[in-house]
Amino acid sequence: MPPVSQSREVLTTMDSGQSMPTLSFGRKSGCFVTRNLAVVMSLLFAGALLATGLLVYYYAAPQQPDSVAIRDDTLHTPVEASSTSLATAGIGGGSVTTTAEPMMPETTTATTTEKVMDVRLPRSIKPIKYMMRLQPFINGNFSIMGYIEVTMEVLEPTSNVSIHMADIITFNETIRLKPMDDLTGSGVRITQHKYDKDREFYVAMLEEPLMQGKQYVLSMMFEGLLNDQLKGFYRSQYTDEMGTNKMLATTQFQPTDARRAFPCFDEPALKAEFEVYIARQTNMSAISNMPMINTTPVDGQPGWVWDHFNTTLPMSTYLVAFVVSDFTYINSTSNDHVLFRVWAREQAISQAQYAKSIGPDVLTWFEQYFDIPFPLPKQDMIAIPDFSAGAMENWGLITYRETALLYDPAVSAARNKQRVAVVVSHELAHQWFGDLVTPSWWTDLWLNEGFASYLEYLGVDSIEPSWQMLEQFVLDSVQSVFALDCLESSHPISIPVGHPDEINEIFDRISYDKGASIIRMMNHFLTEPTLRKGLTNYLKHFEYDSAEQDDLWRFLTKQAHADGNLPQDLTVKIIMDTWTLQMGYPVINVALNGDGTATFKQERFLLVKNPNSTDTHDYKWWVPITFTTQDNPDFTSTKPSFWMADTDITKTVAGMPSSGKWVIVNMQETGYYRVNYQMENWKLIAKQLVQDHTKINVINRAQLIDDALDLARADMLTYSIALDINSYLVKETEYVPWKAGLNNLGYIKNMLGRTAAFGSFKRYLLSLVVPLYDSVGFEDIANSSHLDQYKRVAVLQWACALGHDDCTQKSVNLFSRWMANPTDNSIVSPNLKSTVFCTAIAEGGEKEWNFGWQQYLDSNVATEKISLLRALGCTKQIWILSKYLEMAFTADSGVRKQDSTTVFRSISGNEVGRDIAWNYVRNNWDTIVKFYGSGLFTLGRIIEAASARFTTSLMLKELKLFRMQYADSLSSASRTVDQSIERTSNNIAWAKNHYKTIVNWLTENGYDIV
Ligand SMILES: [Zn+2]
Repeated sequence: MPPVSQSREVLTTMDSGQSMPTLSFGRKSGCFVTRNLAVVMSLLFAGALLATGLLVYYYAAPQQPDSVAIRDDTLHTPVEASSTSLATAGIGGGSVTTTAEPMMPETTTATTTEKVMDVRLPRSIKPIKYMMRLQPFINGNFSIMGYIEVTMEVLEPTSNVSIHMADIITFNETIRLKPMDDLTGSGVRITQHKYDKDREFYVAMLEEPLMQGKQYVLSMMFEGLLNDQLKGFYRSQYTDEMGTNKMLATTQFQPTDARRAFPCFDEPALKAEFEVYIARQTNMSAISNMPMINTTPVDGQPGWVWDHFNTTLPMSTYLVAFVVSDFTYINSTSNDHVLFRVWAREQAISQAQYAKSIGPDVLTWFEQYFDIPFPLPKQDMIAIPDFSAGAMENWGLITYRETALLYDPAVSAARNKQRVAVVVSHELAHQWFGDLVTPSWWTDLWLNEGFASYLEYLGVDSIEPSWQMLEQFVLDSVQSVFALDCLESSHPISIPVGHPDEINEIFDRISYDKGASIIRMMNHFLTEPTLRKGLTNYLKHFEYDSAEQDDLWRFLTKQAHADGNLPQDLTVKIIMDTWTLQMGYPVINVALNGDGTATFKQERFLLVKNPNSTDTHDYKWWVPITFTTQDNPDFTSTKPSFWMADTDITKTVAGMPSSGKWVIVNMQETGYYRVNYQMENWKLIAKQLVQDHTKINVINRAQLIDDALDLARADMLTYSIALDINSYLVKETEYVPWKAGLNNLGYIKNMLGRTAAFGSFKRYLLSLVVPLYDSVGFEDIANSSHLDQYKRVAVLQWACALGHDDCTQKSVNLFSRWMANPTDNSIVSPNLKSTVFCTAIAEGGEKEWNFGWQQYLDSNVATEKISLLRALGCTKQIWILSKYLEMAFTADSGVRKQDSTTVFRSISGNEVGRDIAWNYVRNNWDTIVKFYGSGLFTLGRIIEAASARFTTSLMLKELKLFRMQYADSLSSASRTVDQSIERTSNNIAWAKNHYKTIVNWLTENGYDIV
């Protein structure tokens, strides 16, 4: 990151009286009493800043930003490091606590390799309210000057106060602890300041115990750092139209990084009110969870002001947010009691129109869905140039990646538009489910994410009904997570977690997509009105508070019994515990007995049954069974015909067809399970699909393909039947079954990619894809339906990837026309870009690659940038791939840190690039870990991508060696490594078991002839 130039100002005066207003504007009584203390502390704060040296220090251009940062783990002498800054700052003689290293080694029992697991705060104290003042020196040396007052209540007598804090220097002389009823007194004497690094606790040891039931105020000054790790209070940058580098400061606190911005009780159940003041330069603006109530000058610092925000409702620390930027916004008042604003950098604000047009409507729709008005007066949404996740549901101030909020219809594809709608809807659903009522602890993260991931589809469906979101759900959630949850190394969605690494690890597809899938199942077995009513009662009961999964089950059971939608002796908890507390899912084997009955049998679906498995758990579920028959096909009823209890291994039921007629189980794939049949029934279904596939519901067609091909992969059905089922696709016109088929065929294609059978398999694939290619055509037709546009994109991708001449030629031609007219963005139409860019760069050389890179640098549209970044990984030039890979993990290379995984995945998904990518990971793991810090998602995604196509025992050996070698630094990626190892073993077994069958099937069907 280039240093930011900033003229050095030396300021000599500050007036504490005005710059530190002491009144609180909380809506509840009791918020005014901090006044006197605030005056004292303001004086201290101002007094400290008075030192001219300090101001030089804070305004200085950062020579080496990280050398100021105490967070750098290489600094093993915290006292020295901080005394350097204090000496510069002119605060002489003060003791400091830095939170980068333990102050008191004796408080630490763990070694560096042994993780401390009991990281929870003592329960003796609970926070009531925070008042904080933060001054981030965004255009200076990235320091943050902070002052905080925490009002707290003592629940049990205690002689110490523990509060979360990380990467913060405290000025120990400023730390005060005073009883609420005597704020002018000298307070409780602190005998010792400790820092417990493993638990990230600052601990104040007290001379006398705090009294139960009494309120106290803890206050202190501290110094933090605007880091570049995309977590806590961090900095982001962009280049404006004039080519000037601009900085902004933003936050990402979930799950455990609020403590990096200010000292706090950083656990979700410890809700409190927050009163925030942010100092900013006048050419910038600040936003936070609540509306701003006034702005006052920072005395003695011309060009600086304090923005004071209204006190929040009680909320969790991880949902607090603030952004200081020079962004602009567009607003909407179409919701009559919520001001809705969408923010972006000025040059991109025109791309915010779509989010602005749908946001208020989705918010209003959720108000109706939950039957609870949005409790805040405003909702801001802002696109941040550097962002780790997709978006973050901070209450009243949602932060997004640019690709998740901005959309330019002239440049971005239909998929980008849907992405914006889905993410906006997801985050707005969280404003109730997650923000208003919050899971008490991260163990129930799945409930938060599962609900938001389910409701996002309903929210989008309400504004874009033609997109068939509820069909797409089956592809993107159910079938997608089936592929992960069939591994022995999966995990239950409800999982005890403690350490931040463990918490970070559960932000995975299991929590999101399995969570969403079983909630959808619940919606169908309880019926939607019952689920909604139960949900509303739960939210109203626990508003501004936290709750656990069993609380929700209780409310849903009560409603279900009242509505007669669940037998009185059955509860939601009994059913749902079997889905949340144990991992995996069942396959239901259906055997028609020929006499109008059928026998249903449940067993856990595992891709590969490991004979040496140590898992002795008896996996059984409460399974809602729905079915229909050939005589009277009706796929609409999704209420269970009967239940298989978790004690039922088999169950025989009547009402089934006699021989010669098919039965299909699991209507619209609403149940989270697979279904297997006897050979005869599969053959009848295959026949039906070929004769008239429209007799079977479109979602069930996608289900049949996905089940059949995965059952074959798991050796529970022969591939010849599965491929027969799949082959009806030549007649299919709908997107969802096509995509289910292509997803599964993609696996076989990867497995066969380097084998002798690939030629034959490719001919089979082309025989499916080319007729569809011919029917949809290469041209992007803008008025095609949304899913027809998706279908075209999918088939073009496949046709070009399989080397189809027409597709390749057209792509190369379009790209060269674009190269001749680089500023004409209309040459390659939006939906075609991903295919055209990738194909042309793969077919081309250095010239094409360099052109793509230059277009990436020049583009102002984030979705376009991402398309280009992905496409650049398609080149077949090994040296370019190696160079590109290094760029992905190098600061200032032009690739943003947030996009490095996208680059990595693209390279490792390239047949030519995959070995280069894996070798890079093995040889540079330490560099990669350092590059990210232990970031959310990221490390796991790298390993998953690197090993996705591993098929040989040599690769398996390498992966195991890697796990051993880096056991200490895998942190949140360790489960992903286990999953990759299992997946590789499965791939090896697959090749052994199925290669011949597939070759035979291809031969029998004539695909081996050139
Ligand atoms: Zn979420």
